[in-house]
Amino acid sequence: MMKAAFPGSFDPPTLGHLNIVQRAARIFDQLLVVVAENKQKKYLFSADERADMMRRLAADYDNVTVTVCDSLIVDFLRKEDIKLLVRGVRGMDDFSYEFELSMVYKALDPDIETLFMTTDPEYFVLRSSSIKEIAAFQGNVSEMVPPLVAEALGKKYQTG
Ligand code: ADP
Repeated sequence: MMKAAFPGSFDPPTLGHLNIVQRAARIFDQLLVVVAENKQKKYLFSADERADMMRRLAADYDNVTVTVCDSLIVDFLRKEDIKLLVRGVRGMDDFSYEFELSMVYKALDPDIETLFMTTDPEYFVLRSSSIKEIAAFQGNVSEMVPPLVAEALGKKYQTG
């Protein structure tokens, strides 16, 4: 049984994240999407909101579950008995960041293996931070996020 985790902020989930979920769900027997709750970070959506969106988006995949983690990811993975971690990579900038992160995970727990999954080309410009910026200016994000996320962004940035 191959279990893997896909951790991230998912603030909010984008079509790029979903592409990774869909492809990873085909490779692993079980995929746990881990919504990170880091008290040092400022999020637009609460952990519950992010997890709820992810759950609804992943509802079609029988082998995908979603959970929130507010502790160190390596400790969390040990408790869940998961040794494989999936991270998405859009380009060289992502790669150098992700590579360093994977070294930190290795230092904390040598049993953890990080697997990098390259983005599918149509998603490589998608980034939660830019999407939030566009939505804040009432721009059209419907090609970048699923409808339920576009709706949630619309509500967050409602004017008047
Ligand atoms: P974090 O704050 O942990 O970087 P993100 O929500 O930004 O969380 O991203 C979670 C993971 O998804 C990261 O590995 C990131 O590189 C990956 N990711 C984000 N957007 C895309 C995309 N468009 N295509 C592929 N992977 C992506």
